[in-house]
Amino acid sequence: MPPPATPSEPLAGPDQPQFAARAAHPALTLVCLDPALVVDGEPAGGGYLADEVISSGVVREHCPACGDARLHLVLRHARVIRSHLYCPVCTRCFDALGPDGASTLTLPSQSIA
Ligand SMILES: [Zn+2]
Repeated sequence: MPPPATPSEPLAGPDQPQFAARAAHPALTLVCLDPALVVDGEPAGGGYLADEVISSGVVREHCPACGDARLHLVLRHARVIRSHLYCPVCTRCFDALGPDGASTLTLPSQSIA
């Protein structure tokens, strides 16, 4: 009779392809954005308030102002004018620039004609 499977065994080793792919991601340059340019909201209490701003998830980048705080990805929808990264601690908004200096969060404008 074979021994029972142990559920605590790891399913994948550190040499799996997804680890190599993750390490190959180039570093992004974070640029602070004016909140008035990324969401349609109202200035309030030294900050900026907007309804219907929903995080699409947490990304690997950390807030350059807060250090340990992970940034949230906010995609363009409803009152969000452009996709951006958001820090829930200091409420700053960021764009993420790739090695070529172009935003990695927005698509270049294209003609659909
Ligand atoms: Zn922050």
